[in-house]
Amino acid sequence: EMNKQLDQIVEFIKTEDNFSIVAHQSPDGDSLGSILALGLSLKNMGKRVRMYSSDPIPKQLSFLEIMDQIVIGVPKDKDSVLIVLDCSDEKRLTTQNIHPQEFKYVINIDHHPANTMFGNLNFCVDNKIATCELVYFLLQQLPIKMDVPIAEALYLGIITDSGFFGYDNTTAGTHNIVADLLTIGVHPNKFKKNLEKKPFKYLKLLGMLFSKIQQDKTGKVSYLRIKKEDLISQGIEDFSDLDDMVDYLRNIDGTEVAVFIKEDGDQYKFSLRSNSRIDVGNLCRQLGGGGHSKAAGFSTNENPTLILEKILEEIS
Ligand code: 5GP
Ligand code: MN
Ligand code: MN
Repeated sequence: EMNKQLDQIVEFIKTEDNFSIVAHQSPDGDSLGSILALGLSLKNMGKRVRMYSSDPIPKQLSFLEIMDQIVIGVPKDKDSVLIVLDCSDEKRLTTQNIHPQEFKYVINIDHHPANTMFGNLNFCVDNKIATCELVYFLLQQLPIKMDVPIAEALYLGIITDSGFFGYDNTTAGTHNIVADLLTIGVHPNKFKKNLEKKPFKYLKLLGMLFSKIQQDKTGKVSYLRIKKEDLISQGIEDFSDLDDMVDYLRNIDGTEVAVFIKEDGDQYKFSLRSNSRIDVGNLCRQLGGGGHSKAAGFSTNENPTLILEKILEEIS
């Protein structure tokens, strides 16, 4: 039945010529990569396409030349077909209000568990490592030739969401896709180099943050809270520079669950990672967010100390 939804989307796309493409707020490699791969492909088919991100492009991802094709803002043209990528529900769509049902038609393509199927057509498969894998399958059925920019966009989504091919749901199929992308002309080192590059002052900041990591009584939960003003005092303006901080926590030996909390005024963004059977996706859905069983998150303006206590209790 995966193919039935996909076939309908393929046929629909062929007959339309005006598209707005968006993904979830706080963009990441997979949301931006899938927007660009599909957007550039539809442009190559001669269609009118606009690509949007409601939040700025993380600095770490701006090395890809094609990123400047994404407009920072939200789509306004209600006569266009809205394509929503890598986004489990309408709430997570953008930080500004947009209502998919106001658009001419909505296509929803995603790999998150518990997608709410808010589209008129939904191509949602939750055992894929990245939405870019699903976009790849879609592009296979469209009359386009994949070029290097499209392949780079897909590669970006796959390597970032799979942790460079290490997380669950990385399959032989994932590697087959990537083999094709490298044949087209993707250079892996361009990505590795740029994704791992850090400013000197960021390393200094890490030193300070590492000294603040805490663990619960059992030593199985590692957590860290940081405030935006602490970053600014260190000369770091972009909160998304710290997106990989939660990976340091998850890699601490003996850690079953990692919790990273970014505090921006009275807004708190929680990132959770699991190394155990604990399903942090379910946990975060209960707290108003979502995600996968091993990687999930939510935002709140409630007291973070109380929420953290609730999480620690739930986990124990
Ligand atoms: P991260 O911790 O890297 O921000 O997010 C990890 C995973 O959880 C991603 O798949 C992301 O889409 C999902 N996620 C993070 N925050 C939220 C949220 O507030 N709502 C929903 N639905 N998913 C989230
Ligand atoms: Mn994403
Ligand atoms: Mn994704």
